[in-house]
Amino acid sequence: MTGTTEARPHSIAEYVRAYEEEDRLRGFRCPSCGFVTATWGLACSRCGRPGLEETTLADRGRVAAYTIVHVPGEELLNEAPYAYVVVELEGGGRVTGWIAGVADDGGLAIGAKVHRVTSYKPGVQFARDAGTGAT
Ligand SMILES: [Zn+2]
Repeated sequence: MTGTTEARPHSIAEYVRAYEEEDRLRGFRCPSCGFVTATWGLACSRCGRPGLEETTLADRGRVAAYTIVHVPGEELLNEAPYAYVVVELEGGGRVTGWIAGVADDGGLAIGAKVHRVTSYKPGVQFARDAGTGAT
């Protein structure tokens, strides 16, 4: 493969396959300004250049938002309560995922450092970095 390849939108199946089988988070990068996003667009949302490229997002980031799930769907039935999180990844991109073992609002903080963990469970699983999160 040579040169740059303009990325097309990921299907949900492709996104899931990336983290389940390739152990990475798929994202997009602007070849002009370097803006990185998890969300495909016709053009860069920062500089307007058309033609984003495929990239792999960072595995580390900070919690941007979260909520505690006490009544989960069937797929995470044995994990409740857990935190459903929005993570702002280092270098760009926001993704949703979940963190096991968070039982209440005091168990996690906005801005807490987290990292993605390889998991056989559904969804993108994160864990708190050692020494952060719970206060
Ligand atoms: Zn750009």
